[in-house]
Amino acid sequence: MATSENQYEIQKSEQEWKEALTPEQYRVLRKHGTERAGTSPLDKVYSEGTYFCAGCGQPLFSSDTKFNSGTGWPSFYQPLEDAVGTTVDRSLFMTRTEVHCDRCGGHLGHVFNDGPKPTGQRYCMNGVSLKFVPEESAS
Ligand code: FE
Repeated sequence: MATSENQYEIQKSEQEWKEALTPEQYRVLRKHGTERAGTSPLDKVYSEGTYFCAGCGQPLFSSDTKFNSGTGWPSFYQPLEDAVGTTVDRSLFMTRTEVHCDRCGGHLGHVFNDGPKPTGQRYCMNGVSLKFVPEESAS
């Protein structure tokens, strides 16, 4: 596991991130914060489309893998290929698997092993870290 953030393709100084992000995005993406459950409008979105990193614009999740976990955070059973990385997070007296964008290192949320089929995984994401772009209707 790499311990340095210098591995990421997208590099910005703290000041640059502060200028590029809203204060809440900065707190979650760059400072490993957690948004309050139930506060993200994306929690209730189930339209077809793609969820992009709010930090760098990398595609992270497809609406095809989104499900209602009942937690108040947007949840997915699988990320897109080569989109996210994980680290071990031992904060808050728990051992959890932290999930981040593998292009900018922005913190997205955590992944747990109590998700639905077919993967059994639950990617519990902060909606503020994501930007949803609906698919254009094919009419
Ligand atoms: Fe990113």
